Amino acid sequence: MKALVWQGVNRVGVETVPDPTILQPTDAIVRITSTAICGSDLHLLDGYIPTMVHGDILGHEFMGEVVEVGREVRKVKVGDRVIVPFPIACGHCWFCQHDLTSLCDNSNANAKLAEKMFGYAPSGIYGYSHLTGGYAGGQAQFARTLYADDNLFKIPGGLTDDQVLFLTDILPTGYMGALNCDIQAGDTVAVYGCGPVGLFTIMSAFLLGAGRVIAIDRFPYRLAKAAALGADPLNYEQEEVLEALKLRTGGRGPDSVVDAVGMESHGLGLGGLADAVKQTTRVLESDRPHALRSAIISVRKGGTVSVPGVFGGFGDKIPLGAFMNKALTMRTGQTHVHRFVPRLLEHIVKGEIDPTVIISHRLSLDEAPHGYHIFKHKEDHCVKCVLDP
Ligand code: NAD
Ligand code: ZN
Repeated sequence: MKALVWQGVNRVGVETVPDPTILQPTDAIVRITSTAICGSDLHLLDGYIPTMVHGDILGHEFMGEVVEVGREVRKVKVGDRVIVPFPIACGHCWFCQHDLTSLCDNSNANAKLAEKMFGYAPSGIYGYSHLTGGYAGGQAQFARTLYADDNLFKIPGGLTDDQVLFLTDILPTGYMGALNCDIQAGDTVAVYGCGPVGLFTIMSAFLLGAGRVIAIDRFPYRLAKAAALGADPLNYEQEEVLEALKLRTGGRGPDSVVDAVGMESHGLGLGGLADAVKQTTRVLESDRPHALRSAIISVRKGGTVSVPGVFGGFGDKIPLGAFMNKALTMRTGQTHVHRFVPRLLEHIVKGEIDPTVIISHRLSLDEAPHGYHIFKHKEDHCVKCVLDP
């Protein structure tokens, strides 16, 4: 089959690779009909996540048709049309039982390696380095999926791929990003970053009762998307963010702020198996405006900082003094996608959320490297690339 693979820092390409096969009796093979490029993939492209090797298949936002199931799979059947949440959940451990599926204890085949490097092991994620299990991703024609009965969500007929694809990641991520703000009716929420995650955070914040959302970015075309969703745009290259946020909130600051940026793309990644401490320190100590730092400084006293943005390794220059003395709450994490799929699917069916509005490009798998380029550099008004493999 054909697949998009990591070839080094800032290099991805389409290669012919072996078809995936069933390895465990609980696996299923999915023929992929739609897949997307995520801001999290840019961290891999940038070389910010250390354990990538040439040939690793990228992609954690994918859906398609089940073409083969292992002998212990009961609920999922060949022919089912499914979406695949990006975090892999065993369905049985303490975390899965408590609806914390992105913290599953059993889904990372490389947990020991990760623990040795960082002192903890993240859970399994498709197409997201050997640190999260080394599982092949879904920017490909087929993918092996694990614990199929607990992970694959059947999609009701009548909904298009475009309507449900983002349930695999960024729609629940924006939703959890807003939910973590504990929004009270009428609250003002500031969202740093107007990429796909930021835009879905804005949509969700209004759905959850926010009175006002201030959307921060430097790309006018992305700010225009945010404004179309009802947010007040703030361009941080034209206005000093901290001053502007004060001015717009009567001096108090927003009730909650969301970091939908994560590790900004500075091109400082070292990639490969490079020293993780050295590389994330380079990323986080750069003098560029840093969304998380600014989020902590700008939120009102007693407010909440919600961090869907992805970080890796170690960071410095985080204003812990402000964090403590302002009595802030911070909530973060990879998204517990499984928990949110049913309710978000209902919103889509009822027409209360239209996830398709963020799609800017539809490309073939062969064009995926171009998709990475325009998404990374925010060229050609790129917001979200959907690939048809
Ligand atoms: P993206 O690159 O499209 O969007 C990031 C946006 O942030 C860009 O528009 C950029 O211009 C803007 N930005 C950069 N620096 C900024 C600053 N200082 N202030 C304000 N805006 C700034 O990426 P995306 O797909 O929207 O993803 C955003 C983040 O969410 C990434 O870190 C990604 O890894 C993360 N993510 C997390 C989860 C999760 O489960 N927690 C899931 C998906 C994505
Ligand atoms: Zn993603």
